Amino acid sequence: MKTTTEIRSDFLEFFRGKGHTIVPSAPLVPANDPTLLFTNSGMVQFKNVFLGSEKLGFVRAADVQRCLRAGGKHNDLDQVGYTARHHTFFEMLGNWSFGDYFKEDAIAWAWELLTKVWKLPAERLLVTVYHTDDEAFAIWNQKMGLPAERIVRIGDNKGAPFASDNFWQMADTGPCGPCTEIFYDHGAHIAGGPPGSPDEDGDRFIEIWNLVFMQFDRQPDGTLLPLPAPCVDTGMGLERLAAVLQGVHGNYEIDLFRHLIGKAAEYTGTADLGNKSLRVIADHIRACAFLIVDGVLPSNEGRGYVLRRIIRRALRHGWMLGQKGPFFHRMVAPLVEVMGDAYPELTAKRDFVERALLAEEERFAETLDAGMRIFDEVAARSKGVIPGVDAFRLYDTYGFPVDLTADIARERGLSVDMEGFDAAMEQQRETARAAGKFGNAATMPAELAAQLAPTQFLGYEQLSADGLEVLA
Ligand code: ATP
Ligand code: MG
Ligand code: MG
Ligand code: MG
Repeated sequence: MKTTTEIRSDFLEFFRGKGHTIVPSAPLVPANDPTLLFTNSGMVQFKNVFLGSEKLGFVRAADVQRCLRAGGKHNDLDQVGYTARHHTFFEMLGNWSFGDYFKEDAIAWAWELLTKVWKLPAERLLVTVYHTDDEAFAIWNQKMGLPAERIVRIGDNKGAPFASDNFWQMADTGPCGPCTEIFYDHGAHIAGGPPGSPDEDGDRFIEIWNLVFMQFDRQPDGTLLPLPAPCVDTGMGLERLAAVLQGVHGNYEIDLFRHLIGKAAEYTGTADLGNKSLRVIADHIRACAFLIVDGVLPSNEGRGYVLRRIIRRALRHGWMLGQKGPFFHRMVAPLVEVMGDAYPELTAKRDFVERALLAEEERFAETLDAGMRIFDEVAARSKGVIPGVDAFRLYDTYGFPVDLTADIARERGLSVDMEGFDAAMEQQRETARAAGKFGNAATMPAELAAQLAPTQFLGYEQLSADGLEVLA
């Protein structure tokens, strides 16, 4: 059986052999990119290279990039625990051409790695191409010998949250282009149709690798300007690939997750290893630990609030399993065991990460139990919808981020009145503003007030209440 560790090195060695320079993973917090909350794919650190404003000393690169999809254009937080294939934090194997090779080599090498090196049966694989991309279709069909019925033409995403979409973009603006994606068929015993079919969002055909042909720079008004040179940007989910190579269906069954889930079960006193909450905890410890490694701490705004929200979701899952004491920080040690070699920065900051998580656990422990009682009371008298004022009370008094309340509601077949929540939030802001006008300002010397003003956050202008929107 191939371990995830071996898969990482197989991938890098393969592309090193094709003349690629191996580069390290960038942090989860993008350097100098105000349009992006988190690194959500391998290409983020190369954005300016695609745009032509930065030059590297090489034209081919490969790496294993840590990614987070818990905010902004790519957000999979609500998928975690519900599909076999989505994480908040995951590792993306990627190879790039900066104005060097293009469609033909990118496709041929992907095929070679999958079917020759890793010996995946070709008949289990099928691909999609952008609906107008006859060139990619012909390469798959004529050069790789893939029968036409296993090459699906797909257009732009018209709706469903993760419906196939063969035009990839990192964010609302920036580098983008048509792509071709490779899917693995896990077998007819699993529900779900092939890409492009009405039931494609099942977990039978799982997308493993996306090869993007970067050709455009999308402007704020939507127009597409050509990039200085066509580039290749590929991304393959390590965990999805490991599932295929280890002969299991779901990402949570691979070696790395088995270890984390086993420990989560031990620390929460859970016998059933298939319990969904264990998967969520195992997912969330990776996101939280690496966010802290990359300099984010729990707070009430921006990236820190995304971190706080993920931690609190994990704690609530522990609580559901009957673990009311601190346990989440204990997950750092097993995480270091499975990922510390690949990410020495995690090993180096282990103590710090544990302490930061424990502090947040202790803070939330004070209100979680009481908040859950309030939730139950409200749920019992609500008619399918948790009123906004109650969601706001849970937020304001009990530290329940509104997406946590929505997540609990969803499990019980309820929803939350989000507009009502926003209105309650706005009303509190008004009250605070009015109080500020007549209170603080009148008594505090201007100079002191200026010193105490919160430091201006330059990354992005403002986050919505749930902290998910990224404003350019
Ligand atoms: P999906 O359609 O399954 O949500 P995607 O099309 O959003 O995936 P891409 O943006 O094309 O994914 O990213 C490239 C690759 O990264 C995917 O082919 C997949 O292998 C992996 N990947 C994407 N999102 C996740 C995730 N949330 N968890 C684990 N792996 C992921
Ligand atoms: Mg997706
Ligand atoms: Mg997809
Ligand atoms: Mg994709």
